[in-house]
Amino acid sequence: MSSLLIRNGRVIDPQQGMDRVTNLLIQDQRVAAYDAEAGGPETTVLDAAGKIVAPGLIDMHVHLRQPGREEDETIETGTSAALAGGFTSIACIPNTDPPIDTQGTVAFVLSQAARAGNCNVFVIACVSKDRAGKELAEIGQLVEAGAVAFSDDGAPVYDAELMRRAFEYCLMFDKPVLNHAEVRELAQKGVMHEGLVSLVLGLPGIPAAAEDVMISRDISLAEATGGRLHIMHVSTAAGLDAIRRAKRRGVRVTTEVTPHHFTLTDECLRSFDSNYKMNPPLRGPEHVAACIAGLIDGTIDAIATDHAPHSKEKKMQELDQAPFGVVGLETALGLVITKLIEPGHLDWPTALAKMTVNPARILGIDKGTLAIGADADVTIIDPAVRWVVNPAEFRSKSSNTPFGGWELKGRAETVIVGGKVKFQRASGD
Ligand SMILES: [Zn+2]
Ligand SMILES: [Zn+2]
Repeated sequence: MSSLLIRNGRVIDPQQGMDRVTNLLIQDQRVAAYDAEAGGPETTVLDAAGKIVAPGLIDMHVHLRQPGREEDETIETGTSAALAGGFTSIACIPNTDPPIDTQGTVAFVLSQAARAGNCNVFVIACVSKDRAGKELAEIGQLVEAGAVAFSDDGAPVYDAELMRRAFEYCLMFDKPVLNHAEVRELAQKGVMHEGLVSLVLGLPGIPAAAEDVMISRDISLAEATGGRLHIMHVSTAAGLDAIRRAKRRGVRVTTEVTPHHFTLTDECLRSFDSNYKMNPPLRGPEHVAACIAGLIDGTIDAIATDHAPHSKEKKMQELDQAPFGVVGLETALGLVITKLIEPGHLDWPTALAKMTVNPARILGIDKGTLAIGADADVTIIDPAVRWVVNPAEFRSKSSNTPFGGWELKGRAETVIVGGKVKFQRASGD
């Protein structure tokens, strides 16, 4: 029986309310005991003194691009990047080519993920057939194939009647509907947030209202049906306020924010660098402040990357031609530590809850805790190391990041999936 002992780490498990220095023993791919000592020569010992031992991180919003856009990312490279970022589980978004709207495509993704053997992959399947927004996908069959949630991300579920029926169907399986909240007529051909900066730069803007209006519609439909709504990549102050009020009156709504939305503002677009072009766009400072306030008061449940790889050829076009989106797996944890924990916005347990137990609960997956008997998915974090983001070293196939050259504090050092060490950062790496 192989066993692994993680010694003297500060174990933080928000699900159990645990935060103390202890020895954690892993046996048979599961968490076996605390305050344990090495049993014998067959026990591998990892010294975690000065390190944080967390439940394996979960990213519930990752674009893996395969099938169909393997020039940007593959399941193999995306899951490898996830490990390097400290993630033991990710949920992938179905806007592939073909989209993940059949049992066969779900099975394909799961088999490729198993073959890659990196992190756990959970599949989010399409709400509508072919992501066309016309007809509901075969929700029941997709659940049977393993889909954990439903989304047409890349685009919103536009038709309100379709959205209503999606809530009703998904409710039968207790699955959430994840929406990219955007009203097309308001977003038009915008390339950045509509505000003073877009006005000065003469670039077409996407107003905050494009997001606010759709969030309100979705909340109304979730409230009417009793369905489970998850707003993806929230970015506006009014949208957050609507979610906050809906939660107070018991609507089943959750939300996530990306590291770029709590870190950067539309001022970045003055560089005309397409690595600042994403959807929703980087907003003004009042919206960034609202995201941080939402993280603090719990309105925002999860931190998710919206990892959106695009090859250099595509991303290095003029701002109006370049696709929306940035990679995020390999910088997320460093940004959470540097921008949320270090300045005192969030303490470690609160920040980790948004990257472990909370996304696990939203997706209904049996992950996100280090309780005895749980799957031994563990992320060992060096909270003090300073490092500089070098996109050339990314394991992702794409390097479209706005954080190249940034100095960050803290990152994953060792990542354990199902009791096996899947990633170990080389010293000086
Ligand atoms: Zn989206
Ligand atoms: Zn997305």
